[in-house]
Amino acid sequence: MTDARRQLPAVGSLVESVELRPLLERYPRTLVTDVIRATLAELREKGEPADRDVLLETVAARIETASLPSLRPVFNATGIVLHTNLGRAPLATAAIEAIAEVAGGYSNLEYDLEAGRRGSRYVHCVSLLRELTGAEDAIVVNNCAAALVLALSALARGREVIVSRGELVEIGGSFRVPDIMTRSGATLVEVGTTNRTHLDDYVRAMSPRTGAIAKIHRSNFTIEGFVADVGVRQLSPVASEHDVPIVHDLGSGLLLSLDAFGLSGEPTARDALAAGATVVMMSGDKLLGGPQAGIIVGKAHAIARLKQDPFARAMRVDKLTIAALGATLGIYRQPERALSEIPTLAMITATEDVVRARCDILARALRDAGIGARVVGTSASVGAGAFPTRDIPSAGVALDGNATVIEERLRAGRTPIIGRISDGQFLLDLRSVPPAHDARLTSAVVRALA
Ligand SMILES: *Cc1c(COP(=O)(O)O)cnc(C)c1O
Repeated sequence: MTDARRQLPAVGSLVESVELRPLLERYPRTLVTDVIRATLAELREKGEPADRDVLLETVAARIETASLPSLRPVFNATGIVLHTNLGRAPLATAAIEAIAEVAGGYSNLEYDLEAGRRGSRYVHCVSLLRELTGAEDAIVVNNCAAALVLALSALARGREVIVSRGELVEIGGSFRVPDIMTRSGATLVEVGTTNRTHLDDYVRAMSPRTGAIAKIHRSNFTIEGFVADVGVRQLSPVASEHDVPIVHDLGSGLLLSLDAFGLSGEPTARDALAAGATVVMMSGDKLLGGPQAGIIVGKAHAIARLKQDPFARAMRVDKLTIAALGATLGIYRQPERALSEIPTLAMITATEDVVRARCDILARALRDAGIGARVVGTSASVGAGAFPTRDIPSAGVALDGNATVIEERLRAGRTPIIGRISDGQFLLDLRSVPPAHDARLTSAVVRALA
């Protein structure tokens, strides 16, 4: 045995040492012991003598890293506002407060306070959704994929669903519309071609076996050139004549038009219903800017059938989602409040100048800390399959140095910073960072790079 090895303290003596006592108060003894054992084993392997203070510091740092929660906050400086991998929509303050309000105690989740007896969890967001979309009734489930399965199961199980070949899309994360539709127990009847579908294609596919017509919004791509498409407004008379519902999957789901901000082409839920859809579904955490949820609005008779479907129970939302969604919808009652208080909408509609001014402050603070940084023009996007071809002029801070090295160091921080590399440069695009996080982002970058 070498001298260096002999100098290493025993695991037991370290665990019991005065210096590690505070760690033992905060972390499980087994974790502390395991980390000490692993750290000593590494040193023994290397044959390195260990300075006791360095050893204790290493152990403390490793225990803290090992104890970080698996799910933790990151800074999204990618410029993609609705980043599915980074948790989509950050919630409005009112939504966060609403969650906190019900999370720690009991609530009237399924209790009718007026009657003093059992109620339904489905009532809570209904009046807001009716007001905001003009629908007769609504139901909220786990996500939009679930909403599509539920709607087809309730309205077309064992029957045929007519859908255009141009709408048999893959949304991402192996979610393919045809697979989902089949799982609902309906038989898919594809009509038209990839680029062109005509009203007559739908008419000829109608039969006594038809259970529904499905319209799927082409969220994450566009087709251009020799194309033809049939809108819900045109389909509506055909559907009525055969007494068949139209199920319209909007995907993103706008509650207010963003035309004024140069973002047009995504239908609002109100427009989609007014066009004649029987039920319209959308995600809670895409453009709507709320919690993960699948919102289904539409005709009362159809929603009643959805509520009775066994899938409704399997896909039901919890009280935290209902709290957050209710608070988010409440903000939409005042559209100007929605644009400023719902983080997703505020980030998407912020002017380029405002984003650039924040970048100026960030770049200056980084330079003051000795980090080479300058403001550059960037191109941001909405993300999550909304407005897929629309670039939003934005601004970012480009960091000097090896982009790959910077990317790794920022990603390894306590609150990881996810940016993007463009033309070999590492960029922090502030369009996707809520302005309230700017100061914390600045310190995190300095800590990781200085
Ligand atoms: C995103 C999307 C979905 C899936 O929504 P989730 O809420 O993520 O389940 C379904 N349909 C369309 C058209 C979409 O864009």
